[in-house]
Amino acid sequence: MSERFFPDGMPQPLADAITLPFWQAAAEHRLVVQRCMRCGRTRLPPAPLCPDCRSEEADWKPVSGRGELYTYTIVHRAIAAGQPLPTVIAVIALEDAGGVRMISNLVGATPEEIRIGLPVELVWEDMSAELAIPRFRPTRGRP
Ligand SMILES: [Zn+2]
Repeated sequence: MSERFFPDGMPQPLADAITLPFWQAAAEHRLVVQRCMRCGRTRLPPAPLCPDCRSEEADWKPVSGRGELYTYTIVHRAIAAGQPLPTVIAVIALEDAGGVRMISNLVGATPEEIRIGLPVELVWEDMSAELAIPRFRPTRGRP
């Protein structure tokens, strides 16, 4: 099992036909973004149509999970018993995802180091055998 950051009682994502491939990849610790097969635009969250060319044809592009903190908010009110506080809700600009930004959590950061532009890396949190959630932590030991 991976490192845990949140309790089991946290609300869990509900997959549907459009998002299921994302969550299936996540369960295997692969981060993917949806990519239009006609024009190449990437998007996240997944959607049935490309917002640029309206194509319904899409595949899934693997991405590294490296990026930077685009913006964030610090939450001081728990939504589940045992939730650590404060919690950082973060928008991550993924570096190799065609401009896609992803809403997640920043974990393992000291209050002093949280800033816009902070380099981050992906860390998987296994909530169960079927559900892994991508979180992000400050990149350490990287030039
Ligand atoms: Zn397109």
